Amino acid sequence: MNRPRAPLMPLDDALAQLLAQAQPLAEVEQVSTFDADSRVLAQDLVSALQVPAHDNSAMDGYALRCADLARPAEGASLPVSQRVAAGSPALPLQPGTAARIFTGAPIPLGADAVVMQEDCEVQPDQSIRVLRPPQPGQWLRRAGEDVAKDAVVLSKGERLTPASTALAASIGMDQLPVARRPRVALFSTGDELVMPGEVAPQNMRPGAIYNSNRFFLRALLQRLGCVVTDYGIVPDQRAATEHALRDASQAHDLILTSGGVSVGEEDHVKPAVQALGQLNLWQIAIKPGKPFAYGRVGGAHFIGLPGNPVSSYITFLLLVRPFLLSLQGATQLVPQAMALPAHFAWPRADQRREFLRVRRNAAGGLDLFANQSSGVLTSAAWGDGVVDNPPGQTIAHGDMVRFISLAELQA
Ligand code: AMP
Ligand code: MG
Repeated sequence: MNRPRAPLMPLDDALAQLLAQAQPLAEVEQVSTFDADSRVLAQDLVSALQVPAHDNSAMDGYALRCADLARPAEGASLPVSQRVAAGSPALPLQPGTAARIFTGAPIPLGADAVVMQEDCEVQPDQSIRVLRPPQPGQWLRRAGEDVAKDAVVLSKGERLTPASTALAASIGMDQLPVARRPRVALFSTGDELVMPGEVAPQNMRPGAIYNSNRFFLRALLQRLGCVVTDYGIVPDQRAATEHALRDASQAHDLILTSGGVSVGEEDHVKPAVQALGQLNLWQIAIKPGKPFAYGRVGGAHFIGLPGNPVSSYITFLLLVRPFLLSLQGATQLVPQAMALPAHFAWPRADQRREFLRVRRNAAGGLDLFANQSSGVLTSAAWGDGVVDNPPGQTIAHGDMVRFISLAELQA
């Protein structure tokens, strides 16, 4: 029987509707700065000091006053009046002298430049002759040039990186306030699914396939900072499914399923969610992808992804990822696309927005994976990005296209 097809929903509308449901988790936790990588900062970080705290030397060499070299009487040779190592204080510079200085050591008051030791000659009387006259300010690192006192060094909603945790450490933070980890219950659906390790490849019954989605879903959830409860493959019975969903809804922010959201499919998750809460089935105008479910079970969000591996993977990256980042209060939800030349042709336009699996080549262009089928997981493992191709658009060799890095989408 042919039912009239519902119009497809543009991806941006689906994302906006989904994000409208993603109330940020209220709880903030303090974690060691060592453990804060990839977590979302819950408050602005304001510096209580300037970094560097003092003007200091960028080189091993000699600190001096440039004006002292302008007087040729001494033959541009200056006696060395003190030695300043990193971590020890400096005395004011005696006029007409130089201070031996090392990288990171504070600049003596009165010195206005550092000459690197390679540009100095130590004389028999231990004074130094400057071979290359410096400009004022040479090899000086200015106090506060990295961070000014009271500056916001990192903002609420930023996702922390190794560099930003180090920046937080540089202003003295050993603990950081971050959003708590979302708790996610993961379900796989489908009677054809078998776990690798349970049945050897040569013993697989006809029609059986290994549950591959569970592996990228769990890994992606973990990368996004989630605590995952993996319910495995839910048994194909209504009562067991409802029981598992009810159980999962009590202690999780999100119940995520793969499979069983296609139109008209026999599946127990959809009716079970409908019975316990509410469910909306969307047909999203993307390829791969399209079927997608959003609903609620008790206090938990419910998201149902399609079963086809690449559809599931792409819809996770385009919709579930921003949803989970939004729960954590992140401000940057979607990576920046960049314009790169296609080194392939895509002569058949599709009415859906397509996400083609591609790889950057050494010539600065993009190669296309030959088989773009939504079941071909190799395309996703091979690719290092996707081309975001608008609906109705063909691509000629050399055309500039929108490239989105998979490394960024998977971060
Ligand atoms: P469905 O969305 O349940 O209609 O599934 C669409 C296709 O994806 C079918 O060929 C399923 O066998 C396959 N599929 C569903 N779930 C998984 C999974 N967890 N791992 C690999 N393939 C799956
Ligand atoms: Mg299925």
